[in-house]
Amino acid sequence: MSIYERVQAILKELPPGVTLVAATKTRSVEEIRQALDAGITVLGENYVQEAEKKQAVLGRTIQWHLIGHLQRNKAGQAVAIFDLIQTLDSWKLAEELDRKARAAGLVLPVLIEVNSGREQQKSGLFPEDVLTFVNRVATLENLSLQGLMTMGPLLEKPESIRPFFRLTREIFEEIKKQGRPGVEMRILSMGMSDTWRLAVEEGANMVRVGTAIFGPRPGQ
Ligand SMILES: *Cc1c(COP(=O)(O)O)cnc(C)c1O
Repeated sequence: MSIYERVQAILKELPPGVTLVAATKTRSVEEIRQALDAGITVLGENYVQEAEKKQAVLGRTIQWHLIGHLQRNKAGQAVAIFDLIQTLDSWKLAEELDRKARAAGLVLPVLIEVNSGREQQKSGLFPEDVLTFVNRVATLENLSLQGLMTMGPLLEKPESIRPFFRLTREIFEEIKKQGRPGVEMRILSMGMSDTWRLAVEEGANMVRVGTAIFGPRPGQ
């Protein structure tokens, strides 16, 4: 199947209201164009510089999301090129993004990344720390909290990730219930190539898919 056909097949299978983000790290502008032709409207990039280069060619008529870890010294560049930061993972980064967004005269939409598997080497907030973090982020005037994102642990059987998606969904619902001003819980971003169906079953309304669209990455 071509990139075009794979995108169309996934879009056809996704329930209404679920957004398909094409995870485009290492993919060429030409590959990305094929995905856009097939109906992709949101690109997820992992690295600021790579996204800058591609955006210079592809423009901003599509949405650009940051789905990789953001270093604080790149916050200004990130504010300039991304429509949504899916990977807010520390208070220091939140403060810096807020500052840069204010300087740019905009309110930046963000998702909090949840380290749902409590893995030492992964970024994101531990589940038990998310609620407190939400209340702090809500005080930052130039950030607009829109929801949660999680990767979940990499496990041999895709099905094993379900409890981590479920946990993230529960936190999402709990925050929503609090109804705190300045906090919108609109986006729940979970699921990748092997797990997006499971994620949708567990309540995701945004999935991030790379290899199932573009094929294996070189070296994978
Ligand atoms: C690469 C990546 C994806 C997509 O992964 P695939 O397995 O290629 O679908 C999703 N989310 C994040 C954060 C990624 O870095």
